[in-house]
Amino acid sequence: MQQFIIGREGTQRFPIADAKTRVSRKHASLTITDDGRWILEDLDSANGTYIINEQGEMQEVKRMVIHEFTRIVLGDQTKMGCTFLAHHLLEENPNDYREEFRYVLELHDKAIEEKTRIDQMQQRTANFRYIPPIISALCGLVLTFLLPPDVKPYGIYVTLIFTTLLTVVINKKTSNSKEMQRFNACYSKLLLCPHCGKPLTEIEFKNQMCNACQARA
Ligand SMILES: [Zn+2]
Repeated sequence: MQQFIIGREGTQRFPIADAKTRVSRKHASLTITDDGRWILEDLDSANGTYIINEQGEMQEVKRMVIHEFTRIVLGDQTKMGCTFLAHHLLEENPNDYREEFRYVLELHDKAIEEKTRIDQMQQRTANFRYIPPIISALCGLVLTFLLPPDVKPYGIYVTLIFTTLLTVVINKKTSNSKEMQRFNACYSKLLLCPHCGKPLTEIEFKNQMCNACQARA
Protein backbone atom coordinates (compact mmCIF):
# COMPACT_ATOMS: atom_id res chain seq x y z
CA MET A 1 0.00 0.00 0.00
CA GLN A 2 1.10 3.52 -0.81
CA GLN A 3 -0.43 6.68 0.58
CA PHE A 4 -0.03 10.36 -0.18
CA ILE A 5 -1.43 13.24 1.80
CA ILE A 6 -2.02 15.98 -0.75
CA GLY A 7 -1.99 19.65 0.16
CA ARG A 8 0.19 22.69 0.76
CA GLU A 9 1.81 20.68 3.57
CA GLY A 10 1.20 17.30 2.02
CA THR A 11 3.55 14.41 1.33
CA GLN A 12 3.15 14.55 -2.46
CA ARG A 13 6.43 14.98 -4.37
CA PHE A 14 5.41 18.04 -6.36
CA PRO A 15 5.10 21.30 -4.45
CA ILE A 16 1.80 23.11 -3.98
CA ALA A 17 2.57 26.77 -3.36
CA ASP A 18 1.21 28.60 -0.33
CA ALA A 19 -0.28 31.12 -2.75
CA LYS A 20 -2.80 28.46 -3.75
CA THR A 21 -5.13 29.54 -1.03
CA ARG A 22 -8.04 27.36 -2.17
CA VAL A 23 -5.95 24.31 -1.27
CA SER A 24 -5.90 23.28 2.40
CA ARG A 25 -2.67 22.35 4.14
CA LYS A 26 -3.79 18.73 4.26
CA HIS A 27 -6.48 18.69 1.63
CA ALA A 28 -6.99 15.11 0.46
CA SER A 29 -5.38 11.70 0.57
CA LEU A 30 -4.75 9.18 -2.14
CA THR A 31 -4.22 5.54 -1.28
CA ILE A 32 -3.01 2.99 -3.79
CA THR A 33 -3.95 -0.41 -2.39
CA ASP A 34 -1.91 -3.58 -2.91
CA ASP A 35 -4.50 -4.80 -5.40
CA GLY A 36 -4.02 -1.61 -7.42
CA ARG A 37 -7.10 0.42 -6.50
CA TRP A 38 -6.70 4.20 -6.31
CA ILE A 39 -8.80 5.66 -3.51
CA LEU A 40 -9.18 9.43 -3.25
CA GLU A 41 -10.50 10.87 -0.03
CA ASP A 42 -11.25 14.44 0.99
CA LEU A 43 -9.72 15.39 4.37
CA ASP A 44 -12.45 17.84 5.38
CA SER A 45 -10.82 20.48 3.20
CA ALA A 46 -12.23 24.00 3.26
CA ASN A 47 -12.95 24.17 -0.48
CA GLY A 48 -13.61 20.58 -1.42
CA THR A 49 -12.01 17.85 -3.51
CA TYR A 50 -13.34 17.09 -6.99
CA ILE A 51 -12.64 14.91 -9.97
CA ILE A 52 -13.48 15.46 -13.63
CA ASN A 53 -15.71 12.52 -14.55
CA GLU A 54 -16.03 10.80 -17.92
CA GLN A 55 -18.69 13.29 -19.01
CA GLY A 56 -16.15 16.03 -18.37
CA GLU A 57 -18.07 17.37 -15.37
CA MET A 58 -16.68 18.35 -11.99
CA GLN A 59 -17.85 15.91 -9.34
CA GLU A 60 -17.32 16.36 -5.62
CA VAL A 61 -15.49 13.58 -3.81
CA LYS A 62 -15.74 12.49 -0.21
CA ARG A 63 -14.24 9.05 -0.82
CA MET A 64 -14.05 7.51 -4.26
CA VAL A 65 -12.24 4.86 -6.24
CA ILE A 66 -10.63 6.64 -9.17
CA HIS A 67 -8.14 5.52 -11.81
CA GLU A 68 -4.56 6.40 -12.49
CA PHE A 69 -5.36 9.15 -14.98
CA THR A 70 -8.38 10.71 -13.27
CA ARG A 71 -8.08 14.48 -13.09
CA ILE A 72 -8.16 15.63 -9.48
CA VAL A 73 -9.16 19.18 -8.57
CA LEU A 74 -8.34 20.65 -5.17
CA GLY A 75 -10.50 23.68 -4.40
CA ASP A 76 -11.14 24.79 -7.96
CA GLN A 77 -9.54 25.06 -11.38
CA THR A 78 -8.34 28.64 -10.96
CA LYS A 79 -4.77 29.61 -10.08
CA MET A 80 -5.79 29.55 -6.41
CA GLY A 81 -6.68 25.88 -6.68
CA CYS A 82 -4.72 22.93 -7.95
CA THR A 83 -5.45 20.34 -10.60
CA PHE A 84 -3.40 17.36 -11.79
CA LEU A 85 -3.82 13.81 -13.04
CA ALA A 86 -3.68 11.25 -10.22
CA HIS A 87 -0.70 9.62 -11.95
CA HIS A 88 1.45 12.67 -11.27
CA LEU A 89 1.73 11.61 -7.64
CA LEU A 90 3.94 8.73 -8.78
CA GLU A 91 6.40 10.80 -10.82
CA GLU A 92 9.82 11.04 -9.22
CA ASN A 93 10.48 14.15 -11.28
CA PRO A 94 7.61 16.65 -10.91
CA ASN A 95 8.41 18.09 -14.35
CA ASP A 96 7.97 14.76 -16.09
CA TYR A 97 4.64 14.69 -17.95
CA ARG A 98 5.51 12.00 -20.50
CA GLU A 99 3.11 9.34 -19.20
CA GLU A 100 0.33 11.88 -18.83
CA PHE A 101 0.81 13.30 -22.30
CA ARG A 102 0.73 9.74 -23.62
CA TYR A 103 -2.62 9.20 -21.90
CA VAL A 104 -4.13 12.47 -23.15
CA LEU A 105 -2.84 11.68 -26.64
CA GLU A 106 -4.59 8.30 -26.48
CA LEU A 107 -7.84 10.08 -25.52
CA HIS A 108 -7.26 12.51 -28.36
CA ASP A 109 -6.79 9.70 -30.90
CA LYS A 110 -9.92 7.97 -29.64
CA ALA A 111 -11.78 11.27 -29.99
CA ILE A 112 -10.60 11.64 -33.60
CA GLU A 113 -11.79 8.09 -34.34
CA GLU A 114 -15.17 8.85 -32.80
CA LYS A 115 -15.44 12.09 -34.75
CA THR A 116 -14.65 10.27 -38.00
CA ARG A 117 -17.37 7.73 -37.18
CA ILE A 118 -19.97 10.47 -36.60
CA ASP A 119 -18.87 12.27 -39.79
CA GLN A 120 -19.19 9.07 -41.86
CA MET A 121 -22.64 8.39 -40.43
CA GLN A 122 -23.64 11.94 -41.29
CA GLN A 123 -22.44 11.51 -44.85
CA ARG A 124 -24.30 8.21 -45.25
CA THR A 125 -27.57 9.56 -43.92
CA ALA A 126 -27.24 12.79 -45.90
CA ASN A 127 -28.26 10.83 -49.02
CA PHE A 128 -31.75 10.28 -47.59
CA ARG A 129 -32.35 13.98 -47.94
CA TYR A 130 -32.63 13.61 -51.70
CA ILE A 131 -35.70 11.39 -51.33
CA PRO A 132 -38.45 14.04 -50.77
CA PRO A 133 -37.49 16.24 -53.77
CA ILE A 134 -37.27 13.15 -55.99
CA ILE A 135 -40.73 11.98 -54.89
CA SER A 136 -41.99 15.50 -55.38
CA ALA A 137 -40.61 15.61 -58.93
CA LEU A 138 -42.07 12.18 -59.81
CA CYS A 139 -45.47 13.16 -58.43
CA GLY A 140 -45.27 16.35 -60.48
CA LEU A 141 -44.75 14.33 -63.64
CA VAL A 142 -47.65 11.96 -62.83
CA LEU A 143 -49.94 14.87 -62.00
CA THR A 144 -49.10 16.74 -65.17
CA PHE A 145 -49.49 13.88 -67.62
CA LEU A 146 -51.83 11.31 -66.11
CA LEU A 147 -54.41 12.86 -63.81
CA PRO A 148 -57.60 14.38 -65.19
CA PRO A 149 -57.70 18.20 -64.75
CA ASP A 150 -60.42 18.22 -62.04
CA VAL A 151 -58.35 16.00 -59.66
CA LYS A 152 -55.00 17.77 -60.28
CA PRO A 153 -55.28 20.47 -57.54
CA TYR A 154 -55.96 17.80 -54.87
CA GLY A 155 -53.04 15.81 -56.13
CA ILE A 156 -50.79 18.85 -55.74
CA TYR A 157 -51.95 19.44 -52.16
CA VAL A 158 -51.49 15.80 -51.18
CA THR A 159 -48.01 15.72 -52.73
CA LEU A 160 -47.02 18.94 -50.99
CA ILE A 161 -48.19 17.76 -47.57
CA PHE A 162 -46.66 14.32 -48.00
CA THR A 163 -43.23 15.53 -49.14
CA THR A 164 -43.10 18.25 -46.48
CA LEU A 165 -43.83 15.70 -43.75
CA LEU A 166 -41.29 13.33 -45.23
CA THR A 167 -38.66 16.10 -45.30
CA VAL A 168 -39.29 16.89 -41.65
CA VAL A 169 -39.10 13.23 -40.60
CA ILE A 170 -35.94 12.55 -42.62
CA ASN A 171 -34.20 15.68 -41.36
CA LYS A 172 -35.02 14.71 -37.81
CA LYS A 173 -33.81 11.14 -38.25
CA THR A 174 -30.59 12.03 -40.02
CA SER A 175 -29.58 14.97 -37.87
CA ASN A 176 -26.52 13.99 -35.86
CA SER A 177 -25.75 17.48 -34.71
CA LYS A 178 -26.87 16.57 -31.20
CA GLU A 179 -24.44 13.68 -31.11
CA MET A 180 -21.71 15.97 -32.40
CA GLN A 181 -22.53 18.59 -29.77
CA ARG A 182 -22.44 16.00 -27.01
CA PHE A 183 -19.14 14.75 -28.36
CA ASN A 184 -17.61 18.23 -28.51
CA ALA A 185 -18.87 19.16 -25.06
CA CYS A 186 -17.45 16.01 -23.54
CA TYR A 187 -14.03 15.99 -25.19
CA SER A 188 -13.37 19.69 -24.85
CA LYS A 189 -13.46 19.06 -21.11
CA LEU A 190 -11.15 16.04 -21.24
CA LEU A 191 -8.49 16.91 -23.80
CA LEU A 192 -6.56 19.15 -21.46
CA CYS A 193 -2.95 19.84 -20.64
CA PRO A 194 -2.00 17.30 -17.94
CA HIS A 195 -0.28 20.05 -15.98
CA CYS A 196 -2.26 23.30 -16.14
CA GLY A 197 -5.57 21.92 -17.42
CA LYS A 198 -5.83 24.26 -20.42
CA PRO A 199 -7.58 22.73 -23.47
CA LEU A 200 -4.87 21.65 -25.93
CA THR A 201 -4.96 22.66 -29.59
CA GLU A 202 -4.19 20.27 -32.47
CA ILE A 203 -0.74 21.85 -32.86
CA GLU A 204 -0.03 21.36 -29.17
CA PHE A 205 -1.06 17.72 -29.48
CA LYS A 206 1.24 17.34 -32.44
CA ASN A 207 4.14 18.90 -30.53
CA GLN A 208 3.10 17.18 -27.30
CA MET A 209 3.69 20.37 -25.45
CA CYS A 210 1.43 22.91 -23.75
CA ASN A 211 2.20 26.45 -24.91
CA ALA A 212 0.65 27.96 -21.79
CA CYS A 213 2.69 26.22 -19.08
CA GLN A 214 5.46 24.66 -21.20
CA ALA A 215 4.77 21.17 -19.81
CA ARG A 216 6.01 18.69 -22.40
CA ALA A 217 6.05 15.00 -23.10
ZN1 LIG B 1 -0.29 23.41 -19.58
